Amino acid sequence: MPPDTGSRVTRFAPSPTGPLHLGHAYAAILASRRAGAQGRFLLRIEDIDQSRCKPEWEAQIFDDLHWLGLRWPEPVMRQSARMAQYREALHKLAGLGVLYPCRCRRGDIRAALSAPQEGAKPVLGPDGLVYPGTCRGRSMDAARPDDALRLDMRHALALIGPLSFTETGPLHAGQHALDPDQMLNEVGDVVLARRGMGASYHLSVVVDDAAQGVTEVTRGVDLFDATGIHVLLQALLELSRPSYWHHDLVRDEHGRRLAKRDDARAIAHYRAQGASAQDICAILNL
Ligand code: GLU
Repeated sequence: MPPDTGSRVTRFAPSPTGPLHLGHAYAAILASRRAGAQGRFLLRIEDIDQSRCKPEWEAQIFDDLHWLGLRWPEPVMRQSARMAQYREALHKLAGLGVLYPCRCRRGDIRAALSAPQEGAKPVLGPDGLVYPGTCRGRSMDAARPDDALRLDMRHALALIGPLSFTETGPLHAGQHALDPDQMLNEVGDVVLARRGMGASYHLSVVVDDAAQGVTEVTRGVDLFDATGIHVLLQALLELSRPSYWHHDLVRDEHGRRLAKRDDARAIAHYRAQGASAQDICAILNL
């Protein structure tokens, strides 16, 4: 654990799956500004999905962020080096009885949700389609190495009781209580360990934010709906709870959020055209 300086610790946590674009620049600069001169701004490389991450992209992340004028303590945390910590967290959750192994493929989930007896319309949550619960109740003793592990949401909520988190960002500022019905019906039994990947985003982000002593999670508002999952996992794992600061998303002229394949808005593209870091800040109204 880093020393408690009493000041704000923020982070920028990109995945090296493509070039950083204006949206990443916006998120990184805001996170760094939120930390300010007294705080600490950290960089974390979210590379658990090794099939999609490339060392070239990681090198480009460092280069682009330096070029933007951002600085952070080295060495940075890499999720690919933290599988033992994720396993430990899963072990703890299994001990609480809130995990179960799941064999369903995407097609199985869609088929179960379209079966007439399910009745209700499939709901798209922060983790994809809300899981119909086909494998719920399967014992961890029967888990196979290629099973995914899911959180039994109903059980987890019952174990923890009322929960809330503090949002300080401009879009949703206030205290947000988790609504158990919403968590059950609109989030559901999320995946915490993916087949062949050791951990899912939700698990790794919670374990790593705590390990890095992050006090304020700054990130895009597209992840606001996932915050309930993270806060619940923090409670189950007895980890400290940061506050949250979700920001708006950078969009193209059609109002669509930027994607990594959108090369025209890659930071590297602006650099190649001779733009400066100040130009980027001006484009982003920062
Ligand atoms: N790695 C995530 C992304 O690239 C960031 C997640 C977060 O900030 O919690 O979208």
